[in-house]
Amino acid sequence: MTATQSPTRGEVDDLDRLRHPDEAKAIVLRHARPLEPELVPLAEAGWRVLSEDVTATEDHPPFRAATMDGYAVVAADSSPWREVIGVQTAGNMLDAEVTDGYAVRITTGAPVPRGADAVVKVENTEPSEDHVIIHQEAVASGENIRQIGSDVRQGELLLPAGTVLGPAEVGLLAGLGLTPLPVRRRPRVSVLSTGDELVEPGQPVQPGQIRDSNRFSLVTALQTTGAEIVWSGKAPDERRALETLIRDRIADSDVLITTGGVSMGELDLVKAILDEIATVHFRRIFMKPGKPLNFATADDTLIFGLPGNPVSALVGFEVFVRPALATRAGRREINQPRVPVMLAQSTPPTDRIEYQRAVVRVGGDGKLSGRSTGSQASSRLASLVGANALLIIHPRETAYEAGEIVDALLLGPPLGSITPDRAVGRARVRRQPRPFHMRFRVDE
Ligand code: AMP
Ligand code: MG
Repeated sequence: MTATQSPTRGEVDDLDRLRHPDEAKAIVLRHARPLEPELVPLAEAGWRVLSEDVTATEDHPPFRAATMDGYAVVAADSSPWREVIGVQTAGNMLDAEVTDGYAVRITTGAPVPRGADAVVKVENTEPSEDHVIIHQEAVASGENIRQIGSDVRQGELLLPAGTVLGPAEVGLLAGLGLTPLPVRRRPRVSVLSTGDELVEPGQPVQPGQIRDSNRFSLVTALQTTGAEIVWSGKAPDERRALETLIRDRIADSDVLITTGGVSMGELDLVKAILDEIATVHFRRIFMKPGKPLNFATADDTLIFGLPGNPVSALVGFEVFVRPALATRAGRREINQPRVPVMLAQSTPPTDRIEYQRAVVRVGGDGKLSGRSTGSQASSRLASLVGANALLIIHPRETAYEAGEIVDALLLGPPLGSITPDRAVGRARVRRQPRPFHMRFRVDE
């Protein structure tokens, strides 16, 4: 159904209302349900998201382990001379008991033999053929021994549901022998570029045509989300074919991303099709770039009708689609902090909330500053090249001056860092600045 055919004018007005980006994002996240859990073997669990809390099923380390190469001894024994009764290497269990006057040579990671309660590191000893002399004044009980369960205690919460399984997490789970693991299914995503003017890169371009770039930029962005790209393609502005394509993609995707065809022109068919076959939640956002952005749902599929302009499409992806994918994937945190940033240069007033592409750096004072990437035309992809932040510039009548503070959505880590020399020098004269991560306000 088109706008003019809609049942009540009020609903139409509300759909077309320019939404604050935060309101639009809240609507999106409300509809983004985490996908169902599945079990995967440990070896395939990398970068997946836990669907349940994981608790430790055993202590780690499971035995008292030496943390140094040296000699396992009785700490309270004060005689320097000990008879060596064996060698304990990692991976086996020597049948020996250490008592006063005796020692066992031991390597890092090996189990400490019965009776011994300390390991004297080899640097503090003088080995001979069948004995060793301890050159260390006092030996403390427990010295150089990692106690049972000192890393992980049986029954403790190891990783909460929603944790992304990166290198440390997978290693931790491997160390405890936990496999298979309960994770969420990866979101299945389709990407569709629409427009009569679109030509495949590598094919000849006729007058009036342009190459499809959105599909490639979006697929690349998706590759960093953990989503599974089940389909990508392009289609001309042809109503019946487009509608069939969109229906099919809805059927086999958890998230469908289209670009183009959501403005006010008569060939803006995506908008018309979504009106008919899906439930549309909003169509326009009070932001620049990317005012026309359709969000709809059909069954459990989220549909993002992103604008055709290449920058608008990618900014819309970062602000709305990426958080939606993170939520569907079951993540606990959306890794897009909103942080205060000092403008490195003045910027003209704006009539909509502008998401200005910028490079954010950490200065010598530990503070963040952001420099615009130049012309912010919504067709100019170069404005996103190297950008690690979107500066959120609110509408007002006067220009923003260099040095003013605005919020920024960080898309990646800031460049640069406090140089060690300056940090140390400053620490002597005044308090350390708060660590960078403590100044974050997480944007959710
Ligand atoms: P539309 O949203 O369909 O009105 O398109 C807005 C602008 O973006 C037009 O200049 C289109 O030519 C351009 N555009 C649309 N789709 C793409 C695409 N896939 N790749 C590059 N430019 C596009
Ligand atoms: Mg178009």
